[in-house]
Amino acid sequence: MNSLFSTEEDWNEALLNRYFHKEDIPWILGTPIDNHSEDILVWPFSTNGHYIVKSGYRVAREINLTPTCCSNMDQTHAWWKMWWNLNLPPRMKLFGWKLCRKWLPAKSNLCHRGMKIDLTCNNCGRFEESLSHALWTCEKVKKVWKLRPCYKLIKESRGHSMMDLLVEFRQKLAREEFEDVIKVLWAIWENRNRQWNNQPYMNGARLLDWVFSSYPRDEYTCERGIITTVPSVVPKDHWSAPPVGTYCVHCDAAIQLNQAGVGLGYIWRDWSGNIVSTGMKFLPVCCPVIVAEEKAVVAALQDRPMTMYNSYEIRSDCKQLVDDISANDSFLGTAQPIVNQIKRHLGFSSCTKFIHVKRAHNLAANNPELYSCNLELISTY
Ligand SMILES: [Zn+2]
Repeated sequence: MNSLFSTEEDWNEALLNRYFHKEDIPWILGTPIDNHSEDILVWPFSTNGHYIVKSGYRVAREINLTPTCCSNMDQTHAWWKMWWNLNLPPRMKLFGWKLCRKWLPAKSNLCHRGMKIDLTCNNCGRFEESLSHALWTCEKVKKVWKLRPCYKLIKESRGHSMMDLLVEFRQKLAREEFEDVIKVLWAIWENRNRQWNNQPYMNGARLLDWVFSSYPRDEYTCERGIITTVPSVVPKDHWSAPPVGTYCVHCDAAIQLNQAGVGLGYIWRDWSGNIVSTGMKFLPVCCPVIVAEEKAVVAALQDRPMTMYNSYEIRSDCKQLVDDISANDSFLGTAQPIVNQIKRHLGFSSCTKFIHVKRAHNLAANNPELYSCNLELISTY
């Protein structure tokens, strides 16, 4: 492994390019490394890193639940590449992703996970509620579908799982029609959940009106590339100044789930609110949200204004990050190496506080470029 690192804290990209598949490289680059600590054995699916049989059993079950429809890896890659490029709001893309992985709590899925419940569909009261029943085959849901002009093109679809059905829909429909179908699926699922939670829900025509007027065909997708816009000034009324003579830095990250691309941003300010330095960076890597947020802090520390010897505060809207930094000696999983990297940074000794701020008061809320990189995905995930 050591031979794949270029420095103590970074991968050797040229070497990775030589030995690994192109599509895997962003995932490798997104994995933080730590050459200062001893290697330890950990089980990544428990909070303390220790293996217990119950956790192993749960993971084995989850693996069995993962769909096997696309056995061909290239096909699977192509499918998800198409999927994440659809012109849909992030929440709907995420919904579809969970749908394909059977991660949505239809009754049959809950039962599969060991819950003892009545499996009958609440909508028709006749059949077992699987995802494909709740969203496609239920007679009550068919009434909604029949209101859509494209229904005639897909009504013969007989796929067993939702993944199979979506693949079939995609083959039969133009891209925009397919996007509309996803909106309808999402609306039906929302409506089902309202019903489930005893909230008011909508009938077919109103449901469609609601979803298509709330989510018209806009451009939802985020332009990829280097982010260069200088962020606007944080409104004074939302911003609390650090003590006189000290500085603060707001750090934030935006990721695109399951896609290579992390946007990092930070703003250094003095106690009067004047911007001392700002930076934005785009990394072609895949990593968890927490690692991205921590990378934003590392980037901010590396770009600490040279003239500044004063103490400073770090502000982030990521609660987990603030907790991780203040935790001592606890196991932090993938985030561990990068937390160590922050703590070991020379500039970190002048940091007096690590503060959690509300998202609305942090960088992204005042920065449409960073925000558009699917921050919404993070909050719904
Ligand atoms: Zn039903």
